[in-house]
Amino acid sequence: MSEILTLDNVCLSYHTPSGETEALRGVSFGAERGEFLAIVGPSGCGKTTILSVCAGLLKPTAGSVVLDGQIVTSPSGNVGYMLQKDTLFEWLTVAENAELGLKVQKKATAENRAYARRLLDKYGLAAFAGHYPEELSGGMRQRAALIRTLAFRPKILLLDEPFSALDFQTRLNVAENVGSILREEGITTLLVTHDISEAVSLADRVIVLSPRPASVRKIFDVTLVGSPLTRRTQSEFNAMTNEIWEALKV
Ligand code: ADP
Ligand code: MG
Repeated sequence: MSEILTLDNVCLSYHTPSGETEALRGVSFGAERGEFLAIVGPSGCGKTTILSVCAGLLKPTAGSVVLDGQIVTSPSGNVGYMLQKDTLFEWLTVAENAELGLKVQKKATAENRAYARRLLDKYGLAAFAGHYPEELSGGMRQRAALIRTLAFRPKILLLDEPFSALDFQTRLNVAENVGSILREEGITTLLVTHDISEAVSLADRVIVLSPRPASVRKIFDVTLVGSPLTRRTQSEFNAMTNEIWEALKV
């Protein structure tokens, strides 16, 4: 396998009128093509900052981010970004929302629009294509938002605590759904979460960050396989979760 994303010694400081905040100090890791990485770390350590740098929204003070052989210096259609809030537009139908990313990226070709429709169909939203977001459950909304992001075929997908607004039961189901969509579509994913069990249930590897300024403290290979709910029933699940918890603490 070859790395599609490489962060090499990435440093970033925020400059504000009240002073300088060092957020990232020498963050280095890579993602293999099609890999699912989870990033966990204490609140305020710099997790969102890492995603912003990968998306080209912030420029590293030092170090580099390389996506598919090119240095990332500004936002591009190569990166899909999904946040905690699904940001669907209430006045657009599900189908219109799904195609919105294509329009914004100026990629609304007949082929790509058909692809968006196919995704809606494949992931159980075809019957809701003409409905408005308020008519959907929380889980369906997250799926619609994900399809909108996948429709323009980004090279990597960045997820920033995408399930944290959902209640626990919904969260488990949505993670199950989203996890299987991402595996099926084979997209390289970076998931930021503060929930270690969520990280272990979804990822191939879990990156543990230090407190701010963030650096990579440890990277765990997740030996569990199967869907998130299946993993949660496996005997090694708790051991792995505890091991990561210990790494976060020290
Ligand atoms: P996390 O996502 O891990 O909670 P962030 O990456 O959002 O952490 O933030 C890391 C640190 O940088 C925090 O101390 C935060 O206050 C600071 N920070 C984040 N964004 C800005 C900004 N735009 N300007 C100044 N400081 C910021
Ligand atoms: Mg954050």
